[in-house]
Amino acid sequence: MENILEPRKVKRLSFVFPVYNEAEGLPYLRREVETWMREQEERMELEVVLVNDGSTDASLPFCIDWARDDPRVRLVSFSRNFGHQAAVSAGLRYATGDAVVIMDADLQDPLHVVPDMIRRYEEGYDVVYGQRQERKGETFFKKASAWLFYRLLRYCVHKSIPADTGDFRLVSRRCVDIVNAMPEKHRFLRGMFAWIGFPQIAVPYVRDERRFGTTKYPLHKMLRFAWTGITSFSSYPIKLVSVLGLCFSLLGFAGCLYALFCYLAGWTVQGWTSLLCLQALLGGVVLLSIGITGDYVGKIFEELKFRPLYLVEKTYNVDEQELKR
Ligand code: UDP
Ligand code: MG
Repeated sequence: MENILEPRKVKRLSFVFPVYNEAEGLPYLRREVETWMREQEERMELEVVLVNDGSTDASLPFCIDWARDDPRVRLVSFSRNFGHQAAVSAGLRYATGDAVVIMDADLQDPLHVVPDMIRRYEEGYDVVYGQRQERKGETFFKKASAWLFYRLLRYCVHKSIPADTGDFRLVSRRCVDIVNAMPEKHRFLRGMFAWIGFPQIAVPYVRDERRFGTTKYPLHKMLRFAWTGITSFSSYPIKLVSVLGLCFSLLGFAGCLYALFCYLAGWTVQGWTSLLCLQALLGGVVLLSIGITGDYVGKIFEELKFRPLYLVEKTYNVDEQELKR
């Protein structure tokens, strides 16, 4: 389908930064963002939304100072750690720009890519996502697992989810409003943005290494996030369970025929090996199937509790009335 693009100018740009224990890197972030804003403030209104995701280090006091010094900086502070996706979701909720840029507070996604994104937005694209050409300073395991994950995701879940794309992107107001109105709790924002459609385009970039602090995505969080990505967008794993079930039923049927044959031939004492193997295999498959189905049931349970995605403890430079608009 050919997109019909309507050129426009960006009037007000918001940055969303989720912050979780980033005290070491925040002074650098502030310096870089302030320099960038000085260069661009003639062209457009600017706003920064910092979301403190229950940091336990000195991140919050730093963010408070920044918000006190600069009225363009809005701060939303959670009551505890709710996770990166919840923090970005809150940032999208509190941002007021007609275009919103989602970035990591460690500036691994470089600011110098943003003007390219703005150019694409002004051509009329609604979602301009950064596509990593290279990831500097990351372990072989992280690079390899990320490579495999995005290919699997595209193959099994949703072809429109772009490969090698994180949450670093510029999103138009109408798309931000749509995603804000999607109430799901198990959020996989990059998939949600792919799902909504609208004119989308990639901007290639090289992802820098982390200069300060350590990653806030240890292996278990990464795996959980990958699983959310798959299960919140597809029932493929459950379908796989059915296929497995069918295969084993056919195998079981063949086994029955064989057992019957043995019985008729009078070899009934033999065959315990095959029985044992089948029993063991089936036990594993049945448990796995229950596990996968149970995971979906658990997700339904979580969604049906209708709990909020995050709880805000304090805000700075935020007009709550304006948010209710
Ligand atoms: N982050 C967050 N809550 C969390 C984990 C991470 O808000 O529970 C933020 C973190 O401060 C950073 C961004 O999410 O701004 C990405 O995290 P990180 O850089 O550790 O991930 P990586 O780049 O290693 O995948
Ligand atoms: Mg990072």
